[in-house]
Amino acid sequence: MTRAAEAFISTSALRHNLERINQTAPQSKITAIIKANGYGHGIVRVAQALEQRVAAFGVASIEEALTLRESGIAQNIILLAGFFEPGELQIISNYKFSMAIHSQSQIDILERVTVSMPIPVWLKIDTGMHRLGVPAAMAENLWRRLMACSAVAKPIGFMTHLASADDLSSQQTQEQLECFKNAVGHLPGERSIANSAGLLAWTQTRSHCIRPGLALYGVSPFAETTATHYGLQPVMTLRSRLMAINLYKQNDSIGYNATWTCPEDMPVGVVAIGYGDGYPRHAKIGTPVLIRGVRVPLVGRVSMDTICVDLRPCPSAEVGDSVTLWGQGLPVEEIAHSANTIPYELLCKVTPRVKFVEENSSTC
Ligand SMILES: *Cc1c(COP(=O)(O)O)cnc(C)c1O
Repeated sequence: MTRAAEAFISTSALRHNLERINQTAPQSKITAIIKANGYGHGIVRVAQALEQRVAAFGVASIEEALTLRESGIAQNIILLAGFFEPGELQIISNYKFSMAIHSQSQIDILERVTVSMPIPVWLKIDTGMHRLGVPAAMAENLWRRLMACSAVAKPIGFMTHLASADDLSSQQTQEQLECFKNAVGHLPGERSIANSAGLLAWTQTRSHCIRPGLALYGVSPFAETTATHYGLQPVMTLRSRLMAINLYKQNDSIGYNATWTCPEDMPVGVVAIGYGDGYPRHAKIGTPVLIRGVRVPLVGRVSMDTICVDLRPCPSAEVGDSVTLWGQGLPVEEIAHSANTIPYELLCKVTPRVKFVEENSSTC
């Protein structure tokens, strides 16, 4: 048996999720967010599965955008942070990318350059996230400056990013919407506001264009719910196998620093997955894995190549059995919570040691 850590990627689940998002916001165009290697799912694979069904793709850098073009993706691609250096602008123009413009210094540069084909632009406005974006009070003035740039295609769109849409009790989303409206409500052009949490929970954020990331991958952005609540299916299922089953005595300790002790004589399974594969090292004792459809708890510390599990709930388990770490049957939201992180991070951090296997038909 070779080392068995595998990430199964269901492109049919991906398309299903896109369809669900489309039903949720039928009036909106969809920019599928596929930065960070498609949230760890494989940027080209995700783009190929969705290309015919979305209006654009959103990425974080020109490298990601070029990877897509080089793989034959002809679809519109938006650089969500725009350009980092003036030298990128002619490439952006040549490859027909669009870009968000988030700062005055980017506009200063745009005013000085000429490119062969004007570049479609979204002016990104800071409405309260306070990360990237031009101040709302300056939006109109900066928009006028952009309108005068020969390097910028017209009309110009407006976008903003929500800081707390995943928190249903927060006032901030409402405040951001107000701020956005006051800043650019009177100016012509498309608007783009919603991320996954916005489009699922805040009707008014569903403007001309929505920008789902996490929801596409079949994961809930909310702490209180999992994706099935929204009819979404997990796209990635991380699986490995049981590589050993050992019987230990009461009071035997398990793993590094002996953080867990057997309460009785019992079977302990060793699974071929660890933080070297992207399984979170901080997963708490008790974090579930799925064997033969049964949830069994993690015991002891996560090692680089292995984890140990309490096999008492699944006495029929055998060496070689498939073990699901997250995905179909075991929401990654739950694992993230148990590891004190967010599902975004777990998905992005699966390492190249894990074999990626594409599945075209949903098995659930
Ligand atoms: C990453 C990103 C998104 C997607 O956010 P999700 O929470 O994954 O839906 C949308 N817009 C921008 C600007 C982003 O950077």
